[in-house]
Amino acid sequence: MSVPRFWRKIPQRYNLEGTRCETCGRYFFPPRNLCPTCRREGKIVEHTFKGTGKIVTFTVIRSASDQFAKLTPYVLAIVELEEGPRMTAQIVCSPEEAYIGMPVKAVFRRLGTEGESGVIYYGTKFAPM
Ligand code: ZN
Repeated sequence: MSVPRFWRKIPQRYNLEGTRCETCGRYFFPPRNLCPTCRREGKIVEHTFKGTGKIVTFTVIRSASDQFAKLTPYVLAIVELEEGPRMTAQIVCSPEEAYIGMPVKAVFRRLGTEGESGVIYYGTKFAPM
């Protein structure tokens, strides 16, 4: 019996799984199999990010599609992980609390329910440290 794709992806949903190039020391999130700097010289290994970082910039979302409407207003930020990669994520705090440079930590929260099937999916959000 094959395992549904959704469940196989769970480890990546619950941890910040990325990769690292041992040759030049760069980190990649989402994971990459090829280092753009070292190319064939690069040795790519798996890396679980610590999940800590800081807000580089952010915006406050005041209107959203139906699915996220009840969450507004919310803070959407570009977070720079301690290891370097940047990602876009929701910050679990009020719009008044957020500021550039704010230290944050990854948390895993329910993002929504997928259509009629009622499948709940989770994703990475960040909370103030
Ligand atoms: Zn490299």
